[in-house]
Order: sequence, then C-alpha cells, then structure tokens
Amino acid sequence: MPEEPVLRSYDGPPEQGRHAVVIGSGMAGLLAARVATEHFEQVTVIDRDRFPERPDHRKGTPQSHHAHGLLPRGHEIVHGLFPGIGDDLRAAGATVAKGVGAVVVSPAGPLPALPSPGEFVMFSRFLLEWTIRRRLAALPQVRFLQGADVVGLEADGAGVSGVRLRHRGDADGPDVVPADLVIDCSGRSSKAPDWLRELGCGDVPEDVVNTGLSYASRFFERPAGFPDEWLSVLINGRSPDNPRAGLLLCVENNLWHVTVGQVLGDRLPAEGAGAPDDAAFLRMAGELADPTIYEAIRVAKPVSPIRGYRTPTNRLRRFEKLKRMPTGFVVTGDAACAFNPIYGQGMTVAAMDALVLAEALRRSEGGRSADFAQAFQADLAKNVAAPWFVATSEDLRWADVRMTGARLGLVAPIGRRYMDLLLRAAVHDPELTAVYLGIIFMLAPPKSAVAPWIIARIVRSLFSRRLRQPLQEYALSAEGLAAVRKLPDAVVPA
Ligand SMILES: Cc1cc2nc3c(=O)[nH]c(=O)nc-3n(C[C@H](O)[C@H](O)[C@H](O)COP(=O)(O)OP(=O)(O)OC[C@H]3O[C@@H](n4cnc5c(N)ncnc54)[C@H](O)[C@@H]3O)c2cc1C
Repeated sequence: MPEEPVLRSYDGPPEQGRHAVVIGSGMAGLLAARVATEHFEQVTVIDRDRFPERPDHRKGTPQSHHAHGLLPRGHEIVHGLFPGIGDDLRAAGATVAKGVGAVVVSPAGPLPALPSPGEFVMFSRFLLEWTIRRRLAALPQVRFLQGADVVGLEADGAGVSGVRLRHRGDADGPDVVPADLVIDCSGRSSKAPDWLRELGCGDVPEDVVNTGLSYASRFFERPAGFPDEWLSVLINGRSPDNPRAGLLLCVENNLWHVTVGQVLGDRLPAEGAGAPDDAAFLRMAGELADPTIYEAIRVAKPVSPIRGYRTPTNRLRRFEKLKRMPTGFVVTGDAACAFNPIYGQGMTVAAMDALVLAEALRRSEGGRSADFAQAFQADLAKNVAAPWFVATSEDLRWADVRMTGARLGLVAPIGRRYMDLLLRAAVHDPELTAVYLGIIFMLAPPKSAVAPWIIARIVRSLFSRRLRQPLQEYALSAEGLAAVRKLPDAVVPA
C-alpha cells in the first residue's frame, strides 16, 4: 500500500494570482478543490484534522466507520475529475465486481438481479478519500493546512476576504488566511449560518426532517468460497412495520463492511457506549426484511469493533433564499444539504455539487462576477432538489417523522404511491427494475419514471397477481442461501 504523499503545506497566499480556500477535506472539499484548480493560482484545503499516513478513519469524518456506497453517477463524476483513479483504487486493494450488479431488496421485495455493464470498483469511504487526496495533492496549485480549525470569516467592504482559524493545540491566534474565494465544505456541523448572521446577512432558512437515524456497523472477513452475488446487498426498510435497513459492501482487501440502520432509532436506548454488542448486532441484522445480511455475518469473522452513530435530523439550508449572500463565499456538500444517509446519496450529491461549482466558475470567469455566490447557491438548490425530495418523501412514510420549514405538498404522497406501484411491478420485471435503479442511482431524474410505457406496465401489473409476484423469494438464490445456512456460526474473538 503506497503511503500518503508529501502534501505541500500552506505557507502564505500566492505571490501572484488568485487564492481559493476550501474549508474541510471530506468528499465535498476534495472535489470542490479539484474544480477550483481550474480557475485559481493557489487552492488551499484547510482541515481541523491531521490526515492519517495510510487509508484509515479520522476524527473529523466519523461516518467512515459506516458502509458508504458511491452510486454510479458519483463514480462517473469522480472518474471524470481524476482520470485513471479506478487503477489507483484497484492497486490499493479495492474489490472489482465484473458483471455483478447490486442486490437490492426493495420495500416491495427483492428486485431481479441486473448484471452491471463492465466492471464496478468497491472500496471503503476512507480509501476513496485517501486516494482522491493523493491525486489532488499531485496538482501544483494545491496546498494543505492541517490541524487548523476555521472559526470565522474575514470580511471587508467588498465581501468575504478570507478565514480566521486556530491551530489545534495553540492558544494564540486566530490567524487569518486571505482568499479571493472561500468554499465551505465543513459538513453537517458547518457554522456557515452563524458566520453569515455575524456579517449581517440574516438567518439562513432551513428545512429539517427529524429522521432520528441510528446506525451500527462492523467490518468482517469475507469467508472464502462465497460467490460474487455477495458483493453488494442493500435491504430497505418496509413501512409501516419494519424501519430497519441494511447494507453489505465488499470493500478493499476482501472485507465486508456491514451497516444496519434504523429510522427513529435515536429514540431507542443506546446500547453499550452507543454501539450494540455482538448479540445485539446479530439480532438487528436478523430483524431485516431479508435474511441475507444476517446469514453473511453469522458465518463471517468480525475484524473490527462495532461502531454506533446517531443523528437526530437531516437538513437543507436554503442559502439561495438569503436576501444577501456576501461575495467571495459559497457553501456546498453536507454543509448545504445533509440527507438521511440510508439512501447513500451524500458523496454522489457532493460530486454533482462540484460540477455545479465548475459550471458557475466557468460562467463567471472564475467567480469574478458580483452575483457569482448568489447564482451558485441558486444552482446548487436546483441540484439537490431531486435527491432531497426522494429522501425526505421516503422518510415521511414513517409515523412520527416530520418536516419543518418547506412543505412537500401533495406531490410527495402522490409520488410515493406511484413509486410503490412501480416497485410492486418491478419485483417481477427487470426493465422496470432498471428504471427504478436508474433513479435511485441518480443516473435519471425521478420524472423519468412516468413514461407512457412504464405506466402501461404498471397498469398491467395491477390486474395480474402473477405480475406482482417477486421473481425470487429472497435477495439471493434459494440454493445459495441453503448452502450458507449449513455453515457453522463464526467464532467471535473475545
Ligand atoms: C452514518 C453515515 C453514513 C453515510 N453513508 C453514505 C453512503 O453510503 N453513501 C454516500 O454517498 N454518502 C453517505 N453518507 C454521507 C457522506 O458521508 C457525506 O455526504 C459526504 O461525504 C459529503 O460530506 P462533506 O464532504 O460535505 O462533509 P464531511 O465528510 O463531513 O467532511 C467535513 C470535513 O470538514 C472538516 N471540518 C469541519 N469543520 C471544520 C472547521 N471549522 N475547520 C476546519 N475543518 C473543519 C472535518 O474534519 C471534515 O474533514 C453517510 C453519512 C453518514 C453520517
């Protein structure tokens, strides 16, 4: 495994030319920085963490302990921004699936398995971040400032002119880093609304959903001899009775990363130090709507502790609605819109946000026009509208889940009912499955589900019980499951 390359450290703004500062080096920050290198002589990525020398978890991104699927649209964008990155991931041990598609158990039952065209590379979130960081570090414009906490914005009459930061473990300061553009990618805990209020821009309107998510995750050694269909398994919850969802991903070095999550699970008593013990984790997997993930982890050897994660709310911050957005400052990634992670959208939306930033910078000659920030936030709002709608209208299926801020109106219940009918037909119909997965994988907009031929198939299924019957009872073949059920329980290390 190659080590972290020497990252060029920030030692002042460029002597000539313009400087962009990115707050946060998560997925949104790294991709935004890549886009900014096309327009700025220097791009400095600031993070409160110090980066690990090898692919590993770090404090500032606790979500990396939980299985992260990068949707096909996200793959496309990351590969477009960093050509050849698939080779880097492969060289670092990522799993390569050839012709095997994701196994999805929808709320209506298992969907027909669709072979993916070509290869699909799978990896942990920390390997992806580490690989992108190395690629970014190779660009001559890029500097890093690690162990530095951004505590506020610097502003002059013309708008935002830099950031104020404190170095970790250093009581002095804060220091100022001047910038022509500041891009906030500091994630769910971003202080952008406070900073903008301090600058007299008013309160940022927010839409908030109290999904109350709780997650528990663990890495396992993938036992030898398991067929390829056990590479990627997603099991959705089934409202109104079963709020539990599960994800198994075969990541680098032949490990299974398994997550079990639950809507409104934050109201359950926390187990252990916020994470369930071995028996509770297995029980949670056993309560999923399909036995596949349970059977997988029953026989597999765990190689990490069980990690818990709870987040009470998901929120969309509507920066585009501010009467005044200062020039020189934009917000993207989870800092602008943090979804319920169960739908696996966050990294892909962060990648799509980066393309929106690229287009806004191109249109405004590198962010030089006075309305650049406001126009970017308006474009970003359009970009996140469909995934936010898909995620929140699914969340709102559950009694007790509420949204404050905007109302989804009648479109959400009608859209949900239509998707239910589509799924009930899709369990029997590979072409309808492809339509559904296209939307969920963000390759097609939700409105693509209302083509006349799709409506005709759905109507046909309404009149035939056979056409609503799943092609398979469980996610995996009956023979495969029967063979695994004969295997003994794994020995859990004490
Ligand atoms: C439990 C869980 C599971 C998820 N599963 C998936 C999934 O399956 N698929 C998917 O696509 N997405 C998933 N996501 C979402 C995904 O992690 C994020 O949406 C995506 O990584 C984009 O995040 P970001 O870069 O905006 O923020 P983050 O990844 O949170 O990064 C923010 C960065 O900013 C730094 N930072 C914060 N404040 C400051 C400051 N003041 N000064 C300096 N640095 C600062 C932090 O250290 C961190 O490095 C999941 C999220 C969670 C919580």
